[in-house]
Amino acid sequence: MTEHEPDNPLKAADRDIIALGIATASIILLIGTGGTVMPQVMDVLTGTGGAPNVILVNALLLNIALIIFGWRRYRELTREIEERRRAEARARLLAATDPLTQCLNRRSMFEATEELRARAAMRGEAVAYCMIDLDNFKQINDMHGHSAGDAVLVMLCERIRALLPREARLARLGGDEFAFVMPFPAGNADRVDDLVIRLFESLAQPFRMPELTVELTLSIGLVADHDADGTIGLVVDAATLMHRADMALYHAKKQGRNRYFWFEATMESELRFRNQLETGIRRGLARGEFVPFYEQQVDLHSGVLVGFEMLARWRSPQLGLISPDIFVPIAEEIGLINELSERLMEQAFADAREWDEALTLSVNISPVQLRDPWFAQRVLKKLVAAGFPPQRLEIEITESCLHENIGLVRSMIMSLRNQGVQIALDDFGTGYSSFEQLRNLPFDRIKIDRSFVSELKVPGNHSRLVEAIVSLGRGLDLPLTAEGVEDEEILQALKSMGRLKAQGYFYGQPEDAEGVRARLRAAGRLTGAGAEGTPAQRAAGEDEQTLYRIARP
Ligand code: C2E
Ligand code: CA
Ligand code: CA
Repeated sequence: MTEHEPDNPLKAADRDIIALGIATASIILLIGTGGTVMPQVMDVLTGTGGAPNVILVNALLLNIALIIFGWRRYRELTREIEERRRAEARARLLAATDPLTQCLNRRSMFEATEELRARAAMRGEAVAYCMIDLDNFKQINDMHGHSAGDAVLVMLCERIRALLPREARLARLGGDEFAFVMPFPAGNADRVDDLVIRLFESLAQPFRMPELTVELTLSIGLVADHDADGTIGLVVDAATLMHRADMALYHAKKQGRNRYFWFEATMESELRFRNQLETGIRRGLARGEFVPFYEQQVDLHSGVLVGFEMLARWRSPQLGLISPDIFVPIAEEIGLINELSERLMEQAFADAREWDEALTLSVNISPVQLRDPWFAQRVLKKLVAAGFPPQRLEIEITESCLHENIGLVRSMIMSLRNQGVQIALDDFGTGYSSFEQLRNLPFDRIKIDRSFVSELKVPGNHSRLVEAIVSLGRGLDLPLTAEGVEDEEILQALKSMGRLKAQGYFYGQPEDAEGVRARLRAAGRLTGAGAEGTPAQRAAGEDEQTLYRIARP
């Protein structure tokens, strides 16, 4: 019995003592009365004496009855207490363990960590807290059912247990989240590294079941209560350890999963910054802080402007102008990318309606958006609402979209194309799209990634890759756009490769709607109300130093 639930057992023990007291008192009384009554009884039996004292005999008999009663009560109570103890132990075990894997659960892990820390501290040892998260458990559950998932978790726990030192405690914190805490000699964190590496090796072995075999990967976050040099850390309590291991795990996931990281102080500030960004994005979206910028797309040979690529920008009052590389991944993660993208498209359609009708508008679409089966319908609806001709719209999707549900992506591409929308494959060459996919998916254009184009910077430098992509495009009869045209050298190198569209800083930095309007007004390529502009606006447009002709094609 521990000191945590003392009430009932102690009460029972009190009763225990009373019953035992009654029995003991009865025995003493028995000896007292027995000493007088027994010789009288013996005299009666041997016929040498008269009748014994009736009161004393009755007292004796009562005494014996009391002893029997006391003894039986004592036995009963001991049995009761024993049963209760067992039930309580069982209840405590159930409350402390995960029924499926028999590991500790989240609640009891806290206490277990504190206990181990105290024990390790007495021996001058350090403690490592390790948080484990399976990378692909949801798929296993979805694909093979929950009972297969459960079986994997049980096997997984067995494999982890087999590697842990005797004193370590293993817990299942949630669905596919586990943690263990283990002692190690302070200053020797490499022991923990060794164990974690062996853990990765062990769990990389397929999990075989009668009907199927599954493979798992996992991410791990680690933290110790001692610094690397073996000195005790400043903040060392179980809650801090758990929180830090969680941050290290989050970092491991962000870095691409299937790996482990030790907690570092920078992770905490990164996470804080990320949380700020997240709140900022939500607020910014509600306040209309996201705006489209536009990058010119030019016919490489004639130098004629043929369209714009819309590039999202966040005008954050606190942080300034933020690049999509920062906020797009977060918006994807927090489920806001659809809303963000659609708002930007609405603005871009409205802007582009004022431009010369010959100018196209390209928009980037995230792979996350293509998971929505209604994506194509929603874009088409927006086009109709804005009165923007589908023929002027080009949707850019990256190769990573092709790893998603390819059937769905294909049907969406088809519905968009049926309405006249063009589809470009963006950042070509950076992903793993196969020749087969290129042939089977009805793309209208390939965009050569700027990382390859930049190889042409050095005069006389030939990029085999750019040449290969250009000839691939020609073979498939697909027009090409070269991104990242930064200077004259690149421009000249590309010109020798055939007819291409080009875009890049050579033609100017991406600019906001107002900048584009001024540029087009100056070139007489603005339609409708904005075409004339105020004299000041006209002057601003004419002042723009254009490096190429913005004439009508
Ligand atoms: P991207 O589609 O490859 O867009 C071109 C990026 O290259 C833009 O960066 C552009 O500013 C930059 N760039 C253009 N010319 C040059 C050049 O000559 N040299 C160099 N070094 N860079 C050049 P930005 O605007 O920061 O956009 C980054 C990425 O964010 C884009 O890459 C695109 O994938 C994504 N993105 C932008 N807007 C959106 C959006 O509305 N939705 C989604 N899902 N993604 C977007
Ligand atoms: Ca793009
Ligand atoms: Ca690109």
